[in-house]
Formats: sequence, C-alpha cells, structure tokens
Amino acid sequence: MVDSILEDVLAQFHQAADQMGLDDRYREYLTSWKTVFQTQFPVEMDDGSTRIFHGARVIHNAALGPTKGGMRYAANLTIDDVKALSMLMTWKCAIANLPFGGAKGGVVVDPATLSLGELENLTRRFTSELEPIIGPDKDIPAPDLGTNAQVMAWMMDTYSMSHGYTIPAVVTGKPVAIGGSEGRFEATGRGVLYLLEAQLSRQGSVRGKRVSVQGFGNVGSVAARLIHEAGGIVTHLSDRFVALHNPAGIDVPGAYAFAASGHNLKEWHEQSPDAAEIIAPEDVLTADVDILVPAAVESVLTGENAPRVRARLIVEAANGPTTMEADAILNERGVTIIPDILANAGGVTVSYFEWVQARQYLHWSEAQVNEELRRILDRAYEAVVTAAANNGHPISQRAAANRVGIERVTEAARLRGFYP
Ligand code: NAD
Repeated sequence: MVDSILEDVLAQFHQAADQMGLDDRYREYLTSWKTVFQTQFPVEMDDGSTRIFHGARVIHNAALGPTKGGMRYAANLTIDDVKALSMLMTWKCAIANLPFGGAKGGVVVDPATLSLGELENLTRRFTSELEPIIGPDKDIPAPDLGTNAQVMAWMMDTYSMSHGYTIPAVVTGKPVAIGGSEGRFEATGRGVLYLLEAQLSRQGSVRGKRVSVQGFGNVGSVAARLIHEAGGIVTHLSDRFVALHNPAGIDVPGAYAFAASGHNLKEWHEQSPDAAEIIAPEDVLTADVDILVPAAVESVLTGENAPRVRARLIVEAANGPTTMEADAILNERGVTIIPDILANAGGVTVSYFEWVQARQYLHWSEAQVNEELRRILDRAYEAVVTAAANNGHPISQRAAANRVGIERVTEAARLRGFYP
C-alpha cells in the first residue's frame, strides 16, 4: 500500500490520549505491538513452479482477552497497514464491549490472480506457519478484504488436522455448515444499517434517503441491499471495476443476486446496461446524496476530495477510509461521520457470537443473532454519543469512539497490571 494508514491511526490515538490526559506509561504501552509475526513461505503453483509469498499476523493488544481480527489478501498490503488495522481492532472490540483484544493479518497477494487450488495451497501453508500464534484461546482470525468463508474453512481444517481433532473456534466467518454462525456473512453490512438507524432515529429514518455506496464485496453489497430493503434509495454504487449511477435508485437486489453468483458490477452492467449509467469512480464519493457509505478500501476520502463531499452523513463501513486531513475538513464542514471502529463493528460482534457458539457446540437462530447484534451495537452507539457530548463541549464521534476504546483497554491493563 503506498500510503499506509498507520500514521493516521497513531495520530488519532494521540489526539484522543491528549484529550483524556492519558498517563505516559499507558500511552507508550498502547502504541506498542505485542507480537509482529512475519513469514515468507513457498506455494506450489498449478504450472509446477514455486512462488514465495509474504504473510504476517500482528497482535496489537490482548488486555481484554484473546485477540481477534481479519485476514487480508491484497497485493499492496504492508506491515504498517497490518499494524494500523490491528490497533483499530483493539478499540473496536473494546467499544463493542467484547472480551477480545485486537489483531490483524494477511498475505501480499491479489487472490484474483490465483486458481482455487493455488488459493487453497497458499491458505493452508500460511495457516501452518501461523500455528504458534493462532488458537481458540489465543488469536482468532476472520475474513477481511480478499478472503471469505471458504478461506476460513481451509484455515480451520488445517489447524484442526495438525491437532488431530476439529477445533471450530480457531477462526470465525466459516460457512454455516461447518460451525459458522447464522447471520455472520451479513453481519458487518447489517451493523452498518443498525448504526445508521440509531443515528437517524433522532432525525427520521433511512426511508427515502439517497445513498451512495463504494465497494460491492461482503460489506458493501450487504449494506446496500439492507439499506435498499429499509427504504433507502441507492443512487450510486461502485466496485473496483466500475462506478454506476441511477437517480431513480439502482436495482440493488438485481445487482446483489448477480454478484452472489461470482460476478462483479461491471459484468452486471454489461448484461443490464439500462439499469444505470457509468460514472467516474471518484463521483461515488462526491455524489449529491444524503448518506455516503465507503465500504471498499482505506484512504479514499482525502484532503483533495473532502471539500467536494456532499453527503451530510458518512458511515465508515470500510476500515480507515478517511485520512486525518479529510477528517478535519469534514468535521469543519459539519459532516457527521460514524467512524469505522463503531460503524463496522457488526462483523466482529457476530464473530464473537460464532466463537461463543463454537465453544458451547450450540447453534443460534438468525433472529437471535440479529437481536443480540442490535443490542450490542445500540449500547456501543450510546457509549460513543455520550462521550461525544463531552459534558457540553462536543467532540466528533471518531474522537469519542477512540476515547471509549482507549479508556476500556487502559482500565483492563491497569487492573491486570504489568506482570511481573
Ligand atoms: P471484499 O473483498 O469482499 O470487497 C471489497 C469490495 O471493494 C469489492 O467489491 C472490490 O471490487 C471493491 N473495491 C476495491 N477497491 C476499490 C476501489 N478503489 N473503488 C471502489 N471499489 C473498490 O472486502 P470486504 O470484506 O467487503 O471489506 C471491505 C472493507 O470493510 C475493508 O476495509 C474491510 O477491512 C472492512 N471490514 C470488513 C469486515 C468483514 O466482515 N468482511 C468487517 C469489518 C470491516
């Protein structure tokens, strides 16, 4: 990744730490990473050649419990990105009050360039390299950009085979048939809708609001579909291949069903050219809409385009989509941002439910999952808006969310002490 988000994530931390008057020893402790594991490993390719891949797993902080975080397969992944994303996971788990610390990992690879067999070989070899790090009581991976339920199934199987028995709680985001949770696939996008509803409950509802969604993968496609089902009008939609616009509202269920069979938005548009017009990718971010949902990659809202953003509410479904510079501009312009560490916490929350179910060999219904998800996210939202009110001196939701997360982790560290 050319511009790492680490600098921004650290700057946000220090801003919150300053406002809280955080003790220097906790400041230093919370800007350290417990484990930074890197590995280079060989994978046999379909043509008989061998390629070396670079993978990593970074554990930021484990004060609140075993660590949790996604596995990202991306060609431009850097160790600094993984460190930044692991720190975001620490605050995210704390804000949702989950008994987890934060971690993140991944492999430098564009999964679209691999065959299914190569993807499996890479995942299984990477999982064996991770043996000393991961485990149901230690560190529990989940899907992220470029990985999915199938990748989690291979990880669970590889780890289980090396132990001689099935250990479903070692990863979350698995297919339901092998111990995944109902509702996990939709969880992050559903959480985006729940937080949007919590925010809008003070000023109406999602119904009739015009919405622009960037990214049509796991998070973006589900968020767009659920916003559409709730009566929102999705006028702009994009993935990395195409950006689309229809002022009357895009046929999101049609696009969703097409994407679910393994296609991208460009292919959908090729077969339904009247469904929307093609626009410049950037226009999705500056669209004339009520709500913007960046659900693709980081650092897309920058100092350059932030002055042109027209949405008054941004829900950060992706991790780190707003640079610090853009954040300052948008705050100054009075745009409300529901920050990533709150907005996309639905994923890790249902991952927690999956882990709990796996440990108890229980299976919850989707209705139970969604009800518990809403309860946890509503409580997290309340904690953040209460902190944002800041006794009559309002601060942004991002500053407030960071504060809530940092306070909870610091309290855990203080109670546990620094052994020995
Ligand atoms: P994914 O791989 O399923 O989908 C990513 C989507 O973004 C794809 O449609 C891709 O084409 C699109 N995309 C990539 N680059 C783009 C660009 N420059 N412009 C427009 N679209 C682009 O990934 P995902 O799991 O949906 O994750 C998306 C974001 O949400 C990431 O930031 C991830 O860290 C975050 N997130 C994911 C989860 C989860 O449960 N999957 C949970 C929390 C946060």
